[in-house]
Amino acid sequence: MKHFAVIGSPIAHSLSPLLHNEIFRMKNKNAVYSAVHMPPEKLEKEFKRLVTDFDGFNCTIPLKQQILPYLSQVSSSASALGSVNTVKIDGEKTLGSSTDAEGFLRSLAKHNIDIAKDNEVLIIGAGGVARVIAHACAEKGARLTFAVRNKEKAKALAAETEKLTGAKTAVCGLDEIKGNFRLIVQCTPVGMYPNSDACPVSDEVIACGEAVFDTIYTPLKTKFIKTAEKLGKKAVGGLEMLVFQGLASEEIWNGLTFDSGDEIHLLKTLEWALDFSPKKNIALIGFMASGKSSLGKVLAQELRFNFVDTDYEIEKAEGRKISEIFDINGEEYFRKAETETLKRFSHGDRLVLSTGGGIISAPENAELLKRDFITVFLDVPFETLKMRAERSCERPLFRDVTAAKELFDRRYPLYKNAADFAITPSEGIVKAVGEIEEKLKIEN
Ligand code: NAP
Repeated sequence: MKHFAVIGSPIAHSLSPLLHNEIFRMKNKNAVYSAVHMPPEKLEKEFKRLVTDFDGFNCTIPLKQQILPYLSQVSSSASALGSVNTVKIDGEKTLGSSTDAEGFLRSLAKHNIDIAKDNEVLIIGAGGVARVIAHACAEKGARLTFAVRNKEKAKALAAETEKLTGAKTAVCGLDEIKGNFRLIVQCTPVGMYPNSDACPVSDEVIACGEAVFDTIYTPLKTKFIKTAEKLGKKAVGGLEMLVFQGLASEEIWNGLTFDSGDEIHLLKTLEWALDFSPKKNIALIGFMASGKSSLGKVLAQELRFNFVDTDYEIEKAEGRKISEIFDINGEEYFRKAETETLKRFSHGDRLVLSTGGGIISAPENAELLKRDFITVFLDVPFETLKMRAERSCERPLFRDVTAAKELFDRRYPLYKNAADFAITPSEGIVKAVGEIEEKLKIEN
């Protein structure tokens, strides 16, 4: 199996695991894609491990520039941009490239918006994404105007773009915009959820563009996009750019290609995920063999959430098996590791967590589950658990049935207490997932 990831900080909200895992499912590719929390100060120490553990990874904020010195090779366009979002790993070799500009250009092309020589393009903002888009438009021969609140920063970007591409550039304040534009590209976070009523420019400015593009994708339609649509303009939101840069990464890593049916399906998948925004992440609790992992994976897929197994996360962080942690450091140590894992995954949307059977034994964990998660108890009768354990032969706890029953009886009220609701998955996973989905809608 191949392993891919996105690294960055913050990362829990990333849509990339959903996008790439859906691609692997669609294309029958034996691969998995995860999100790795990587604050910038950890990159140096962790880089070797990334190279060993993964076949490729994406970099996001704040690592796109910082990753460059670690790579053995960088594509000429990524090198000119000084920004890498895709790393392909080939043995010890690490090859960096940037697919962000391609994501932007492909989504313009999909809407038949072309940028030609001497077209005027207005770019609002002068940060990382503005830089990528400015270079992409300048490469097509466009003339650029940066409209910003911080002119000094924008002047530096304008000078750099001119030097690299020969494009003509200008800088103005957000209230000084004049002229008509082939395209207006919104590259600030203004208008992003929850400040969805904000827009960085007036309706009069939007009226001066033939077409508009907003890099923001939460909400799918910002006020900027809605205003442009009302004015009869072609208007494109940022989700397609995100999808297309991901497809371009897949082409680099796995040589995968996509037809328009694939693209539509992936866009719909991400749109669905953004539409369903629960207040909290979901945690599944229950005794061993109650089906938390298998049900959790299907639930995550149904909801277009990411799946996290807390036991797996602890083993990964500790670099050893849970049995070894118990034997050497004892239960209290393990429960604390569970507490840290719960805290780590309590923020950031769209996660389904499968938890260890004993997680609720520590009062602190039960409190965290109550406070930060929608907690679902898989209420499976002891006899069923015993039968499953006998069939799987991998559950040593059930070798002593009396002790297992005692533990079950002790934990049962704790599960009930920690849960927001319980379900009894007696009629298979699909039915159980449907039941959880129904209850989540009410909880939401
Ligand atoms: P960044 O590097 O932090 O740059 C943000 C820019 O917005 C800066 O020029 C900043 O100006 C300006 N800005 C921030 N708040 C502002 C305000 N209240 N009024 C006016 N200008 C303001 O961020 P980035 O990486 O370029 O990301 C910008 C946006 O692009 C984000 O919202 C993100 O959602 C989106 N994005 C989308 C994709 C995609 O695939 N669709 C990819 C990357 C990013 P100062 O320099 O004055 O702070």
